[in-house]
Amino acid sequence: MSYHSGKRTGSKNHQMWPGMSERQHYCLHRYIRAVADSMGLQHWQLLLSNNPAKSDDCIAHVDVCEGRHVATIYVCEEWMTLSNDERRHTIAHELLHLHHADLTDDIRLSLVKTSITQPEYDVVWEQFRLGFERMVDDLAVIICHYSDDTLIEHYLEGRKSP
Ligand SMILES: [Zn+2]
Repeated sequence: MSYHSGKRTGSKNHQMWPGMSERQHYCLHRYIRAVADSMGLQHWQLLLSNNPAKSDDCIAHVDVCEGRHVATIYVCEEWMTLSNDERRHTIAHELLHLHHADLTDDIRLSLVKTSITQPEYDVVWEQFRLGFERMVDDLAVIICHYSDDTLIEHYLEGRKSP
């Protein structure tokens, strides 16, 4: 998979955005790829947005390209100030969403095919979405419990690749 953010200058001081250097962004992207591969997501093309997540109340989110195994991950502007544990958990959480993206899509499309009204759809979908968030979050805790710090220290600290 290629790094898509365009020409890199190699300068340590080049910033993706305030608080995220180009080097840190590159290392995070490599970390995401390494974790994804270890989670059986080798068939996914994963992009890391060149812009921070827009929402003030989210640490990260993932946008899936409908019908394709392509996703873009967004992290918050303050990403580099978070602890290793928080960052590791967040990446595991976002990648777990990809594991269930096809299932999520199937359920959503099945609901659309029923004769339920829009308000009924909204209630059912919101319940499903919240339950899914809890499940993904719990699974991320389990995954992080059984993973070691080597990868995150290597990539997220911006050290040279192993
Ligand atoms: Zn989530």
